[in-house]
Amino acid sequence: MRKIFNTSAVLILILIVAALTLSGCLRNAGDGSGANESKSDGASALNTEANSNQVESPGESGEPTTTTEPATAEPSTSAPDTEASSQTEPPANPSSIPEGDYVPKVMMYHLILDEVYSYENLFVRPSEFEAQLTMIDERKMEYMFANDWHKTAVPSVIITLDDGYEDNYTEMFPILKAHGARATIFVVTDLIGTDGYLTEEQIREMSDSGLVSIQCHTAHHNDLSYQSAEALREDFSSSISRLESITGKPVTALAYPAGSYNDTVVAVAAEFFTYAYTTKSPSNTPQHTNLTIPRYAVPRGCGYYENFLN
Ligand SMILES: [Zn+2]
Repeated sequence: MRKIFNTSAVLILILIVAALTLSGCLRNAGDGSGANESKSDGASALNTEANSNQVESPGESGEPTTTTEPATAEPSTSAPDTEASSQTEPPANPSSIPEGDYVPKVMMYHLILDEVYSYENLFVRPSEFEAQLTMIDERKMEYMFANDWHKTAVPSVIITLDDGYEDNYTEMFPILKAHGARATIFVVTDLIGTDGYLTEEQIREMSDSGLVSIQCHTAHHNDLSYQSAEALREDFSSSISRLESITGKPVTALAYPAGSYNDTVVAVAAEFFTYAYTTKSPSNTPQHTNLTIPRYAVPRGCGYYENFLN
């Protein structure tokens, strides 16, 4: 009796264990396939996310102002564009000066500094610069920006400074403010914040003052006449983006580095800019287009500035 019980108990035990094992196997098999399915579902979901991210990110990085934004992260991604468009019109295009017959006198400077550390003629003394603005003021000429070139109803002048040297902020800007004058700085974006050149903060402050227009002098200051059209486009779009992200204002004028250009350069410049400036003298170039505007080079110790204004 006891033996039978034991035997049947063992049998029952075996049956229970077998049943449990079987159901366990079945469950595992089911889980397994389920896991595979859900895994593949999960994978495809991740892929979809990844894909959609990939689809979005080129669009984001394709926006000129966001690529050059330092690391201000996503929240501000669309902000620069909004700012740019909202600030656009009034400060950067102050064409309150009516159209007329006077051709603006365009002056070209580089450094406004007593100390000379390279080619002397690039260094106009601050006292000279001040005296030149006084001459302009005495003649009641209107100051315009390089990105607003047009023939005017009254005599007008466009002060330009190339390269973006730091003295444009430390020396030139205070004089400009004292005279309520306006100037355009053609900035080389690769040089921003490097030794001897303007910082982003200085550029922004001058731009915000409404007295200084920040325009393009390319990213690398290469001789453009040796660049492919593709390289030119890359340079123009990256330098424009950088400047616009700093000032929040449109960049529509270019100064050709070292005044060097050819037909290709002008054609590509036309895709990006409304105005481009050379280093040719207006005295020798009566005929020009908006993309080959000549300028008077103002040297150190210039004794004939009045001639430029007449
Ligand atoms: Zn230059």
